[in-house]
Amino acid sequence: MRAIVRGKVWLVGAGPGDPELLTVKAARLIGDADVLAYDELVSAEILALGRSDAERIAVGRRASGCRHHEAKIHPEVILAALAGKTVVRLKGGDPFVFGRGGEEAEELAAARVPFEVVPGISAALGAAAQMHIPLTHRDCAASVTFATAHAREGEGRPLLSVVPLDGTLVLYMGLGRLAAICEDLLAQGRSADTPACVVSNATRPNAKSVFATLGTLAAVASATEIEAPAIVMVGEVVGKRVESPVAVALASSRSRVAS
Ligand code: SAH
Repeated sequence: MRAIVRGKVWLVGAGPGDPELLTVKAARLIGDADVLAYDELVSAEILALGRSDAERIAVGRRASGCRHHEAKIHPEVILAALAGKTVVRLKGGDPFVFGRGGEEAEELAAARVPFEVVPGISAALGAAAQMHIPLTHRDCAASVTFATAHAREGEGRPLLSVVPLDGTLVLYMGLGRLAAICEDLLAQGRSADTPACVVSNATRPNAKSVFATLGTLAAVASATEIEAPAIVMVGEVVGKRVESPVAVALASSRSRVAS
């Protein structure tokens, strides 16, 4: 009897953009893969880490021409794995944070394709680190909630009805509905003075941010024409942002000590 050789699909988190924020494991798998299947959030620099002879397939929702179809792993991913290839399915951030990784895993299991999942740095973590915003803080935030502001088509429930009223809130996919989101949060009882910000293209060379309050964020963000992909952070921690002293000042104080 001949054994059936199956390949494998790795659902790999590519992080928020900066290639240096890939995990060591993700970088190794990308360098080894026969097939790289990626979505639109994965940067060209990261794809360049793949073998020159690796097949590269754009499988994102935008690539398929329809942004709101039901999540389905691209048929070529399954076919390549069934043909014995090693496929890295690269997803922006972490595969299991609003990445539909769970749905892709279900489909791989149904097709009897072996798979493994490699975590990545989610956009909230990349943005918080870049902006020096602690997501929790002993003075003011004992919890952090990651939520999406984007409902499935046809779902009537108010989007933010389930988020806690205190602690830090990080909203993915919220930029397009920013004014409505801020209104919802104010109506729920968050104070208009609550510090809030939008961070777009976090950890990438074109990163942009705007800082305001829950009461003013929508107007400030639209005035600066900040663009997607962006996350929205709301909570006292946004006001706990710490500026780093500039390195030059440190060098001169050192030389003063030395002289
Ligand atoms: N799995 C991804 C999220 C996918 S949903 C993760 O863990 O990060 C897509 C949303 O993620 C975007 O609409 C945006 O809200 C956010 N996002 C992804 N990359 C981002 C980046 N570099 N900067 C800011 N937001 C980003």
